[in-house]
Amino acid sequence: MAERKTVHVAMFSTGAASAFVAYNMVQTYGKENSILFFTDTLWEDEDNYRFMQEVSDYIGVDITWRVDGRTPEEVFHDVRFLGNSRMAKCSEELKVRQTLIFLEGLRDDHNLEPILYFGIGPHEKHRADNLRAFYEHNPIEPIETRFPMIDTFRADVDVKKIIQEEWGIELPRMYKLGFAHANCGGRCVRGGLGHYAQLYSIWPERYKEQEEMEERFRQAFNKDVSILKQRNGKSFTLREYREMMEREGINKFLKQPDYDDTVPCVCTTF
Ligand code: SF4
Repeated sequence: MAERKTVHVAMFSTGAASAFVAYNMVQTYGKENSILFFTDTLWEDEDNYRFMQEVSDYIGVDITWRVDGRTPEEVFHDVRFLGNSRMAKCSEELKVRQTLIFLEGLRDDHNLEPILYFGIGPHEKHRADNLRAFYEHNPIEPIETRFPMIDTFRADVDVKKIIQEEWGIELPRMYKLGFAHANCGGRCVRGGLGHYAQLYSIWPERYKEQEEMEERFRQAFNKDVSILKQRNGKSFTLREYREMMEREGINKFLKQPDYDDTVPCVCTTF
């Protein structure tokens, strides 16, 4: 069989850095050799979809969109395990699995060799190392990964300013609302205590939906489990946390460090 032709795949998370990386990738290798790839968990904030579409229009490449069809909650029920800051099967099922299926399809069905581009910055080098190691070992054949925010661009490049002022595109609203990361519309089960306090202060109704989701899982499997954890590792439900915030005032919880020093998973949007 003929040697595979290279295709450059921007792993577009709907955040600013991955948009900037995608733009530069397309400028370097051309639209015809580029793919903007997005995996949808069906929990993203609606404004992230608006941003994604505007970036796609600006770059001039359509989004290649993959969706498993389940929400993270449906995955938790399928695997009988409630995602939490330490383990989140939703990411594996809805993002990683869809990505690997897509990449293998590029090779098998189109004789293309993908190179992946991530918008991960120098402050998250450990995540770049993890991703690099993952794609070296997990697919059937290794896949090359590139991290231009670490290896290519100037350290002080202000991608948000460029997107807003030069591209004329408004950033996803979650940036302005102060979320540290915008995965799954602020509902990421890996978010930790400070993150959930932020969610409650900004979108109490969305926090309530998470609270109800957690309770549905507890009832369905009759298990004392929770998304958040206490320092001693015991469960700490979103209802208990909300009641604590209401009793003691939310401000002291907003800066709460996460007990696990939680970092977002491969789903990171910022
Ligand atoms: S962002 Fe969080 S909740 Fe969403 S799929 Fe990833 S780990 Fe799961």
